[in-house]
Amino acid sequence: MPSDEVGPWPAASGLRSEATREDVAREAAGPRERSERQELGPWPAASGLRSEATREDVARQAAGPRERSERQEFWMRRALAVAAGSVTQADVPVGAVVFGPAGQELSTGHNRREATGDPTAHAEIVALRAAAAVLGSWRLTGCTLVVTVEPCTMCAGALVLARIERLVFGAWEPKTGAVGSLWDVVRDRRLNHRPEVLSGVLEAECAALLRDFFEGHRQPPTRR
Ligand SMILES: [Zn+2]
Repeated sequence: MPSDEVGPWPAASGLRSEATREDVAREAAGPRERSERQELGPWPAASGLRSEATREDVARQAAGPRERSERQEFWMRRALAVAAGSVTQADVPVGAVVFGPAGQELSTGHNRREATGDPTAHAEIVALRAAAAVLGSWRLTGCTLVVTVEPCTMCAGALVLARIERLVFGAWEPKTGAVGSLWDVVRDRRLNHRPEVLSGVLEAECAALLRDFFEGHRQPPTRR
């Protein structure tokens, strides 16, 4: 399927311009306001990312497809690094990152199902839980979830419940995918929240990570 085969994105434009206004206001904010914002942390890699994201958001109105594509690839490279850093004998390498409304990194997660014996310990769930803990709320309004593989039904359901604004994923998962492959949970019009979806970002690299993992196993385990 083609990249950016997406939409409808009902809530996206309003939320996006809100974030942009906030970022523009941030530049003019005094030390007290800035310090109040910083108390929302900890944001591990945040300072660099945040100022970069602010500039990026201000420029977003004028950003063309190339700039948008570069931003998505930047996000996905981070998720790929999380996935690659998690490679063990047992767990399939899938990486997820949640970015906040201003582009700051809130949390990461990698698949830990085998390591923990927890059937729900998919990368997306781990990252969503950690992001909610950072923000002190289950509601992740304005946040972006980036994951190396198309989410399953559980994870697609969870990101809708978390009110994630934007989902970016890499490789398609034809056997279990619930964002277009088998189902399309996140764009079901019967649900009251439908995230924006960007698919196939760095698809070849994301798929290669999985392929390399499974080539190391004579009897590939069921991934999801
Ligand atoms: Zn999942």
